[in-house]
Amino acid sequence: MDADERIFPMIELRTPAEIHEMRAAGRFVAETLATLRDETKVGTNLLSIDARAHDLIRKAGAESCYIDYAPSFGNGPFGKVICTSINDAVLHGLPHDYVLRDGDLVSLDFAVSVDGWVSDSALSFVVGSAREEDLRLIDTTERALEAAIAAAVIGNRIGDISASIAAVSHGEGYSINTDFGGHGVGRIMHGDPHIPNDGRAGRGFPLREGLVFALEPWLLATTDELRTDADGWTLRSADGSRGSHSEHTVAVTADGPIILTDRSFLGVD
Ligand code: MG
Ligand code: MG
Repeated sequence: MDADERIFPMIELRTPAEIHEMRAAGRFVAETLATLRDETKVGTNLLSIDARAHDLIRKAGAESCYIDYAPSFGNGPFGKVICTSINDAVLHGLPHDYVLRDGDLVSLDFAVSVDGWVSDSALSFVVGSAREEDLRLIDTTERALEAAIAAAVIGNRIGDISASIAAVSHGEGYSINTDFGGHGVGRIMHGDPHIPNDGRAGRGFPLREGLVFALEPWLLATTDELRTDADGWTLRSADGSRGSHSEHTVAVTADGPIILTDRSFLGVD
């Protein structure tokens, strides 16, 4: 045991065989998000997105990580199987009776367990006609996620991932809130290590073969302050500006990062 392991005793490493087992959950999360994005249009009710996700979970024999989720920061249990964060909402959006309108910015965040392994992923998109500034915000979170994944290699440290997210985000003029960030993923949804969306390169836990985590940059257009809705879950920008969120579950391997929730095999990004 070296000094880093004494500081981070809860970090678990997965064998190649375990990472192979985790692919089923990743694939299901990827397929579900691609399906839901496809089906979500102007006129779609957020409750029907949740109902559809629930149906897909049931058919697949998967288990929702959200429905019974009751962490200290929420007004739990969550009671739904997907987070729908619209416009100035960015994280933990509790689906409610709302019909999407032209130009709405939608973030979907979805996590399930399949065969006892969790995968967690999120994406953002606009329904109907998009505003240029919304597309730039979404594009920046996607590029920040790509940079984070590229930094998820053996020999780097957690701080290298954090710094790469920050470089892309700050490069586009967005500020960063570090209250919520990436996290270890395994048998449960939220484990160690925590991966802040801003930090110093070369610092923090060294990345090892077998680390599996969710990387999840999220940005607000013109603030880094959040407020919580009366529902006790939905987090919105303090100034009403819009938010975007991109997340993948990634395994650090000897062959480089593997994106377990990759949607590219479906012919979509
Ligand atoms: Mg998530
Ligand atoms: Mg997550």
